[in-house]
Amino acid sequence: MSLIQNRAAVAPLQRYFSYSADPAPDGVPSVADMVAKLRPEVPLHCVRPAVITAAASAFVQSFNGEVLYAVKCNPEPAVLRAIWAGGVRHFDCASIAEVTLVRRLFAGAAIHFMHPVKSRAAIRDAWILNGVRDFVFDSEDELAKILAEIGKPEAAELDALPGLFVRLALPKSGAVIDLSSKFGADFETAVALLRAARPQAGKLGLAFHVGSQCMDPLAWREAMALAGAVIRRAGVQVDIIDVGGGFPVAYPDITPPPLGAFMAEIDAAFDLLHLPNTKLWAEPGRALVAGGGSVVVQVQLRKGNMLYVNDGVYGSLADAGALGFRFPVRAIRAADAYADAPDMAFSLFGPTCDSTDVMHGPFMLPNNVREGDWIEIGQLGAYGSSLRTAFNGFDQAILAEVRDAAMLETSGYEADAQAAPAAVTKLPFAYPRAA
Ligand SMILES: *Cc1c(COP(=O)(O)O)cnc(C)c1O
Repeated sequence: MSLIQNRAAVAPLQRYFSYSADPAPDGVPSVADMVAKLRPEVPLHCVRPAVITAAASAFVQSFNGEVLYAVKCNPEPAVLRAIWAGGVRHFDCASIAEVTLVRRLFAGAAIHFMHPVKSRAAIRDAWILNGVRDFVFDSEDELAKILAEIGKPEAAELDALPGLFVRLALPKSGAVIDLSSKFGADFETAVALLRAARPQAGKLGLAFHVGSQCMDPLAWREAMALAGAVIRRAGVQVDIIDVGGGFPVAYPDITPPPLGAFMAEIDAAFDLLHLPNTKLWAEPGRALVAGGGSVVVQVQLRKGNMLYVNDGVYGSLADAGALGFRFPVRAIRAADAYADAPDMAFSLFGPTCDSTDVMHGPFMLPNNVREGDWIEIGQLGAYGSSLRTAFNGFDQAILAEVRDAAMLETSGYEADAQAAPAAVTKLPFAYPRAA
């Protein structure tokens, strides 16, 4: 008997059993409805499908090319369905688990494997079983690996030529999270890789990523100019320039330029390259989903301005820890009988025993917040639930689809009248099943 088992560290939000509740009058409850009904003692993840659909739709309408959603940002099926409802048909996946998840949900999705380092098994399974045709690489060895795996007898029966994308490294930008220190080919390597890949490629692309939450539209202008120089030097036809993700959203005290400013910069920089046979792709993650998610945590103990809550940096609040992101908050009171109180600054402490499990914020909440109250933490649709771990056993959470607006609007992504509300076909919420 084999002792080998497959293990996933944490996938509780994907382990559903259905819980039936009376639907709200219009089918989708509010956050306040859900808290009143459930009085949740584990974190309640609130997905706002209509907000996500509107953001996706706004991006699709203003970007002058194909929009790929970066699945790692939030792979929750309810989120993916809302993205789809906003008109996104392309998905940027980085692992075979993401590939199979998207394929299971959307038979018609175009899936692109945009991680520059992949296992051989993942390449084969993507190509043979999941219809993935596009692969990214930043080294000769990875290109050789891709070509070898899709050329093996079984795989080679699919006679299409792959889409091959060279990931170009960028000089450090103004992004909060720099992603070029780990991946990307330098100028000369990118030139050589484009030339080497051209004869093997059904379509040839050049991809870059300016880093996440990049506040400066000029970062895309500079990256586009560098991409143009690489293409000119390579002297081969490049079919696609993929401008990556990194489009920023609003956080407390952070107001990014409107979406249109980024699009204008990209369009102008692209026009300067005079590449009439080249198309643009983008891979937004954060920008499509940040406003569409919040987490309702419960206060378990108060010591002065320290609130001990039931979620933390090993849960959905990783970016509020070491990275120091601030998020919009509001209190939801456990009883009606509180007098209104002025706000004061609190720090939040997560449930694990690790002393680094702390979020200093500051988070402005009524000065009479007490044990049992809930705090809704907004703008957590991006890199919130997707970063959770099972550390210390605090991996329980529940999920609801709600009708609330985003807790902060980001200019350019507001819900507009034209965006169709996402169809909510499932029950509005579900509990994780005990394994
Ligand atoms: C993470 C990532 C994205 C998405 O980045 P956001 O900052 O969430 O928009 C896009 N492309 C690549 C290659 C990534 O690694």
